[in-house]
Amino acid sequence: MRSGDYDAVIVGAGIAGLTTALQLTPLRVAVLCKGTLGQFAASDWAQGGVAAAIGTDDSPRLHARDTLLAGAGISDDTIVDILTRDAPAAIETLLGLGASFDRDSDGELVLGREAAHGRRRIVKAGGDATGHEIVKTLISAIHHAAHIDVIENTAADDLMLHDGRVVGIYAHIQPSAQPLLLFARATILATGGIGRLYRATTNPPQACGDGLAMAARADAVLADCEFVQFHPTALAIGADPMPLVTEAIRGEGATLVNDLGERFMPEIHADAELAPRDVVARAIFDQLRRGRSVGLDATQAVGAQFPVRFPTVFASCMSAGIDPRVQRIPIAPAAHYHMGGIAVDAWGKSSLPGLWACGECSATGVHGANRLASNSLLEALVYGTRVATDIHATQTSPMLHPSISRTYDRPCGDDDETQAVRDLRHLMYANVGLVRTGSDLRDALDRIATLTEEHPYAKTELRNLLVVARLIANAASERCESRGSHYRSDFPLPDAALAHRSFRRLTSVV
Ligand SMILES: Cc1cc2nc3c(=O)[nH]c(=O)nc-3n(C[C@H](O)[C@H](O)[C@H](O)COP(=O)(O)OP(=O)(O)OC[C@H]3O[C@@H](n4cnc5c(N)ncnc54)[C@H](O)[C@@H]3O)c2cc1C
Repeated sequence: MRSGDYDAVIVGAGIAGLTTALQLTPLRVAVLCKGTLGQFAASDWAQGGVAAAIGTDDSPRLHARDTLLAGAGISDDTIVDILTRDAPAAIETLLGLGASFDRDSDGELVLGREAAHGRRRIVKAGGDATGHEIVKTLISAIHHAAHIDVIENTAADDLMLHDGRVVGIYAHIQPSAQPLLLFARATILATGGIGRLYRATTNPPQACGDGLAMAARADAVLADCEFVQFHPTALAIGADPMPLVTEAIRGEGATLVNDLGERFMPEIHADAELAPRDVVARAIFDQLRRGRSVGLDATQAVGAQFPVRFPTVFASCMSAGIDPRVQRIPIAPAAHYHMGGIAVDAWGKSSLPGLWACGECSATGVHGANRLASNSLLEALVYGTRVATDIHATQTSPMLHPSISRTYDRPCGDDDETQAVRDLRHLMYANVGLVRTGSDLRDALDRIATLTEEHPYAKTELRNLLVVARLIANAASERCESRGSHYRSDFPLPDAALAHRSFRRLTSVV
């Protein structure tokens, strides 16, 4: 069986994992990813940008205020403070590595505005290709970093534990399924989100919540699992995943219109199309439930400028035969971002000794019940750095080689897993999606339990999706109120007594 020893093993090569790896120099580091570097990472698909208070009329305090408002009363103030204060430095670091962000004719960074941001503070690249530019910049730095071994086309299956401490990971190389054991003094999960769990999602198919499920099986503390953000405007052309139609287009004045030609947002919220994401997403969902279809009309607001201003969205539309300069863009809400994840402290440390987490798979407490747009790339950058700083400061444990790990056998899977994944994704969208009720959530939990019993040897994807589904449905059924992205039609208002984060372990979930 192949194995290796490292100071640190990082699972995931999105912005969180790559940032951590670079900052861990000169420690010996392995970075694992399911595809090639950057491939299958949501980071590479991010369109809008990175939020940072660098405008002359802005400050970290104002950025923090907007972040707290979006979080609907349960964000951790200290963490929000850290994130917004460290944001300008994170942009400086990227510029130092050669990132090419959009600039105006005076050479100043162009700062975009997005919903619920009180100032123009979104740093962008290539109009709507910010994530790709950052990933490209980090990968180029990784290629020059002698301390990093990149292990591509390899999936981590589980954490390796010894006396309650995480001492590495069990993995397999794809497509041969050859097992790989990596021993490490520090293990970092940076596996991204959970969008694959929903039949409508903007996330790459590899966003199966692997890190969250691995940490859950190892009995780590998890937080805020009920909070799943749905993006209001994903391109509804039957593709899976659904291409994103960035919020910035609404920021430019595009309107939402149903097939009767009615603009419905102004009567729902004073900010109309720029209301918080959850409000817009639910309003569109409501139209769809009534049998209407919904389009985003950018013909007046953007018009002929579309190919220059939003090249990624333009290409997606044109490939589906829709010209957004003159036609409405068909849209629907889709699962986009998980605010919940592995509970970590201000340095990205989990409840398990030897385990850190950063990026979307972690729950720092910054996003509360709803993430402010463009704060997640920022969180991946800031926490990637903080995790590395903490490991440098605390790295003293000896390398452990538990003998039990040598007999590692991967689950072999069974035949009807594809259908089970399909069923689970439909169930989650219908029962644990934008609008939830106690009875739908109970039905979902029963069905998830049955699927788990029917597939005891499920391979990585289904095995992890079932764990994450259970965590989300359980947390959603326990939160008997509506807050941020979590909406219960049987408890439509927030409850002041529940204005706090939620924490759980898999072993305590019924
Ligand atoms: C279409 C889209 C647009 C977005 N736009 C924005 C935006 O403009 N601004 C913003 O702030 N946020 C945006 N987001 C959210 C943001 O992109 C993500 O939250 C962020 O990139 C997450 O970074 P990450 O490094 O945590 O994970 P990811 O970038 O998703 O990377 C995860 C990595 O983990 C690897 N991995 C997963 N499981 C395993 C396993 N078992 N073994 C080995 N490797 C594994 C994957 O291969 C991948 O390399 C967007 C998201 C999407 C989907």
